[in-house]
Amino acid sequence: MAKPVILTVDDDPEVLQAVARDLRQEYGDRYRILRAESGAGALEALEQIKLRNQPVALFLADQRMPHMSGVEFLEQALSMFPDAKRALLTAYADTDAAIRAINTTKIDYYLMKPWDPPQERLYPVLNDLLDDWQATFHPPFEGIRVIGNRWSPQSHQAKDFLARNQIPYQWMDIKLSPEAQQLAEYANCDKLHLPLVLFIFIGAQPHTDWLDGVVEKGDRGFILTGPDLQLNGRRPKGWTLERDPYLLETNIPGVFAVGDVRQGSVKRVASSVGEGSICVQFVHQYLRNVV
Ligand SMILES: Cc1cc2nc3c(=O)[nH]c(=O)nc-3n(C[C@H](O)[C@H](O)[C@H](O)COP(=O)(O)OP(=O)(O)OC[C@H]3O[C@@H](n4cnc5c(N)ncnc54)[C@H](O)[C@@H]3O)c2cc1C
Repeated sequence: MAKPVILTVDDDPEVLQAVARDLRQEYGDRYRILRAESGAGALEALEQIKLRNQPVALFLADQRMPHMSGVEFLEQALSMFPDAKRALLTAYADTDAAIRAINTTKIDYYLMKPWDPPQERLYPVLNDLLDDWQATFHPPFEGIRVIGNRWSPQSHQAKDFLARNQIPYQWMDIKLSPEAQQLAEYANCDKLHLPLVLFIFIGAQPHTDWLDGVVEKGDRGFILTGPDLQLNGRRPKGWTLERDPYLLETNIPGVFAVGDVRQGSVKRVASSVGEGSICVQFVHQYLRNVV
């Protein structure tokens, strides 16, 4: 089963990075840590997560964000993932809103900024929430899902095809299942295009958890290199050299990433091989200056 998601939302990129880093350090081995810079961006990511049938364990949202506040985001997220735990990250001035939200929006907890040290002010609360979530969590069905109308011949054809090939599937009736209706909407599938067959695409998830806290990664765990490491024109944190990182270089000088695992790479054999050979050039360039 894919790791359950912990999604954190904050409009301040530095705060977002710090929260994600702390979450990865403590939970990265068991949960997939995702981050978004706005409520709208987070809701878009949630649609994709829903389509992939991946579970969400926890939302941690900043209250004060432009366009959509943390509470507004959590309200909408709740309709997509009703079982996920919901925590609000607030500054002192927002505590009244947070307390009101506990009652109106079913927020499980509000945490105060700053949360340092996380061992005292972040992890104990989140551990409790995640334990509660685990206690009632039922792993989702992981095979193919067929969404359709039970009277439609096309639905029967799709089901017959899968059954004949002994491929397990889950049938979801668009008329009876609100979840099926929600999924069809996220997949932009109207009634004329049913049945909709959803399956998991393997190979699109990098297994980079072991690099947590070592190299910088993007929201989905792909390794950041070269210009992707620069935030508002600034070099990556801790970078001490006088030059910018080379094209395929990570935030650690002399450590390079190529192929599928690199953020922004074209996920194809030829481009992975190509990046590997280009990278050799940068390795030589790097070594020339250190040896
Ligand atoms: C189902 C599927 C079909 C595809 N079809 C095509 C296609 O038709 N044409 C095409 O061009 N591309 C295709 N691709 C994409 C292509 O396979 C990849 O783009 C390519 O293999 C990437 O090469 P890579 O060296 O970056 O990564 P990989 O080939 O994934 O190699 C990474 C290696 O690192 C190993 N590894 C991982 N973690 C660790 C660790 N911690 N320690 C040590 N080793 C580790 C892995 O076991 C693996 O052997 C397909 C991919 C999938 C999943």
